[in-house]
Amino acid sequence: MTELRFQWKKQRVPYDIFYELTPRCTFDCKMCYVHLTREQMGERKELSTEEWLRIVDRSVKEGMLYCVLTGGECMLHEGFWQIYERILSYGVVLAVNTNAYALTDEDIARFAANPPGGIRITLYGASEEAYERLTGRRAFGRVVENIKKLKAAGLIPKLAATLTPWNMSDFPAMMVLARELGLRLGYTFHLTAANKDTGRQFEDYRGTPEEIARWELAGWKAVGRVPFQNEPITELPARMPDDPNSVRLTCEAGRGSYTVHWDGRFSPCLNIPTELRLQDMSYEEAWEAAGKMVERLPIPVECQSCRLRPVCANCALTRQDQNDPQHCDPYRCAVTVARWNAGLITLHPKHVNDAPTEEDDPEEMVHQG
Ligand code: SF4
Ligand code: SF4
Repeated sequence: MTELRFQWKKQRVPYDIFYELTPRCTFDCKMCYVHLTREQMGERKELSTEEWLRIVDRSVKEGMLYCVLTGGECMLHEGFWQIYERILSYGVVLAVNTNAYALTDEDIARFAANPPGGIRITLYGASEEAYERLTGRRAFGRVVENIKKLKAAGLIPKLAATLTPWNMSDFPAMMVLARELGLRLGYTFHLTAANKDTGRQFEDYRGTPEEIARWELAGWKAVGRVPFQNEPITELPARMPDDPNSVRLTCEAGRGSYTVHWDGRFSPCLNIPTELRLQDMSYEEAWEAAGKMVERLPIPVECQSCRLRPVCANCALTRQDQNDPQHCDPYRCAVTVARWNAGLITLHPKHVNDAPTEEDDPEEMVHQG
């Protein structure tokens, strides 16, 4: 599979596609990079169901094999079920991202009758208090109840946790809860900088490197995971400076993957700001421009020679300070160093001297939404 993905990427077959159906949501998370209220959306309109169905048909024609429906809360889009069914009718492996708060029994029955490849549920805490602090709703009980209903209907959701200063201290209990539910929990402390129109500032919702490492370690210990025995470091160890793999993105963005945003913007990846719009150009032009966009994106100079890059959870693009794109954000390096020193990451022997290559599997993405 890795070899196939490598070939598709090399030939620029867009096989792994994200549709961000809406920025609206049933929650109002303090760290959300995308959520907008109707008022914040202003004059901008969501793509209609008909427009989405045409996009689906085109994506399949061009090579879509995997698709993620995301948001906001993607199930709030009026055409959600039509879009869902059209994608599945093509045999595409479909994943649905949801916070599971507003799932009804009817929704669950519909999922069970025509199951997706995966349902990813973001867990925002292990208590009503943490949910309220972060999402604005005491939704914990209802979310867990819906997870159990999905399981009872024969669906195996995958849990994902986004950890922020408002819910980090719940992380050990979240790890235990996932184990009790018999479900896998992916998690991330790596937060995406919010879109400008949300009014949120990255600096306002990130934890300190020390508290991140402390709570992640506590989470590991809560389920008996043993940290790695790393030699502590105080600065980043350098690697071979002229390795050709170190100067470009190794992920699928713009080569095997793209995102269509709720208002028709088209980008190589959810995290790459874009002005390309499907309303203004053809699909071919958008895909061509997305590829060029990725080729031009610089990898921060520090990352090019950093030996911890294969285990650094930061995407090359979110490392960049918008005002100084040649350099990575020292905060993100400090998180990686703190996680290394706590034994939460370590280098695979194949990465000790080498840069990540095109064949390496991209890191699994945990949706912040
Ligand atoms: S962001 Fe990560 S890869 Fe880049 S220099 Fe810092 S620790 Fe290394
Ligand atoms: S993080 Fe997810 S659940 Fe929270 S407001 Fe954003 S889209 Fe909604």
